Amino acid sequence: MLNIILFGPPGAGKGTQSEKIIAEFNLYHISTGNILREEVKQQTPLGLAAKAIMDAGKLVSDDIILGMVENVIQKNKDTAKGFIFDGFPRTIPQADGLMQLLQKMGLSLSGVISLTVDEPELIQRLLKRAQDSGRSDDTEEVIKKRQEVYRNETAPLLTYYENKKLLHSVNGMGAIDEIYTSIRQILKKL
Ligand code: AMP
Repeated sequence: MLNIILFGPPGAGKGTQSEKIIAEFNLYHISTGNILREEVKQQTPLGLAAKAIMDAGKLVSDDIILGMVENVIQKNKDTAKGFIFDGFPRTIPQADGLMQLLQKMGLSLSGVISLTVDEPELIQRLLKRAQDSGRSDDTEEVIKKRQEVYRNETAPLLTYYENKKLLHSVNGMGAIDEIYTSIRQILKKL
């Protein structure tokens, strides 16, 4: 099984590159952001609790996120060719939790692809996306908050995965297809 994390700050292009990876490698997509947005739409108890946190650009609790991810892996592990985690993990406890979950299910992480984009470019991209995304967390204030949360809580995962020899960095500043070519070369070797 090919189990990978597509890592990067908000606006790095994880959603766009995930689609390309899924199309070629046939992986099961686990985007915690998409799952949460669907819960909000369906007005489930989880969605109702998560909405205010998401609208503030903060992180939903690790326990909730890990529970959601465990359910999806459990349901699909016998049929999926592999999983691509997008927007997860976002904290060290989530990363530890993922390792334990995978181990418990007899699976392992093949690698982490990190998309690097500088912060001014990220903010520009997100402001542009805000014009037609309809996402309630794509306002300038929340965009800046999400970058701050990324810097403080999520960026430490780069060292975490580097220490485990799982980290592969890709320059996320170029054209979409060029970036995908670099990702693809890495995935072929995992
Ligand atoms: P995203 O679509 O990945 O940018 O996620 C949108 C929002 O959902 C984030 O700003 C968080 O509020 C929440 N969220 C998504 N994934 C996670 C996660 N792994 N941990 C905590 N909160 C998350």
